[in-house]
Amino acid sequence: MNLARFPRRRYTPHATPLEPLKHLSRELGGPEIWIKRDDLTGLASGGNKTRKLEFLVADALAKGCDTLVTVGAPQSNHCRLTLAAAVKEGLKCRLVIEERVPGTYDPKASGNNFLFDLLGVESITPVKAGADLAAEMQKVAEAVSQEKGRKAYIIPGGGSNPLGALGYVTCAEEMMGQSFDQGVAFDHAVCASGSAGTHAGFLVGLLGTNAHLPVTGINVRRPRAEQEANVHALAQATAELLGVPAVPRDAVVALDEWVGPGYSIPTDEMKAAVRMLASLEGVLLDPVYTGKAMAGLIGLVRRGHFTKGQRIVFLHTGGSPTLYAYQDVLQS
Ligand SMILES: *Cc1c(COP(=O)(O)O)cnc(C)c1O
Repeated sequence: MNLARFPRRRYTPHATPLEPLKHLSRELGGPEIWIKRDDLTGLASGGNKTRKLEFLVADALAKGCDTLVTVGAPQSNHCRLTLAAAVKEGLKCRLVIEERVPGTYDPKASGNNFLFDLLGVESITPVKAGADLAAEMQKVAEAVSQEKGRKAYIIPGGGSNPLGALGYVTCAEEMMGQSFDQGVAFDHAVCASGSAGTHAGFLVGLLGTNAHLPVTGINVRRPRAEQEANVHALAQATAELLGVPAVPRDAVVALDEWVGPGYSIPTDEMKAAVRMLASLEGVLLDPVYTGKAMAGLIGLVRRGHFTKGQRIVFLHTGGSPTLYAYQDVLQS
């Protein structure tokens, strides 16, 4: 792989930590569990979208754009980080907010929604679930271009296109380097699987470095077959962009047993996972993605899918600002 061929901005001036979760591992009595702390990437409050934006924003700047336009749910970490990248680069940012769960968009809500205001978003366009999001973003971009000298750059939801997914190819390379430096070999990796860019990029990076490290994605929204098809399609397109071999379909695993009633809707397993990681390890997960992904990892250990003697790495993709919008659900 030769990632240096792609223009990139740098938002995290260091590798994110790779650490053992000793107390959690002891508590569960199964495999040794490690964590890759991608909640500690750069830009306001960090998270996985920072790595994708390094490539996406470099492309926006190369194309002479002055405004980033993107879309997300009312508590979108991706929208917060896209806005933060825009602020850092001296660009403007306009957001389309999809009310995925009807009745959940509250312009006065805390968490990421509050940060949209604090970081100085130029405009927010709320739309109903099921709206044509590409068309909504296109409309916003056209409104920008009506203004003299301005040009918008549209970033798809979650920053999940092949260029954005390169961010998670870099994460896989970084993590395998740390694995070697720290003398720890992993048997399996686990990550949240949403708009698919993280899962797809990570997989392509692990295959492209011949890491022989299988990845299990834990879905936060879609049924298994649909999500696996999405991840596979994006992984193929990313592999093509990079010029590495095609991704075998059976390398894509995205389990749907921890979604619960739906995207962003709390589950008991999520609550337990968030509270466990905070109280045992001092690590803040989030209620929408990493709480459910960690619930999946814990579930897989408890049912004996991952066992003693194995070493598992969990990719922490961030999201802690959302905790403050779910205090009533999570507080004891
Ligand atoms: C967006 C997000 C994910 C999912 O990543 P995708 O690339 O959309 O699949 C996981 N965790 C957090 C905290 C996120 O914000």
